[in-house]
Amino acid sequence: MPTYEYICTECQTKFEVFATVNEKEKGIKPECPNCHSKKTVQVFGNILVMGGGSKNGGFVSGCGPSSGPGCCG
Ligand SMILES: [Zn+2]
Repeated sequence: MPTYEYICTECQTKFEVFATVNEKEKGIKPECPNCHSKKTVQVFGNILVMGGGSKNGGFVSGCGPSSGPGCCG
């Protein structure tokens, strides 16, 4: 069963969702395991599927693994 990576737009929690292709095609709207928000978007690799990035192509800065150590201060 494939897994899909999602991120919560409320609290930026990343989580994985198990779903069959069938379920995925119907459209799944997983709930954030942290804050139980339904405002979740799928992540494809390192690319966030979110519109509106004007400066740097929509890359979301943060404390992810690609941001390097110590970025949180
Ligand atoms: Zn959340």
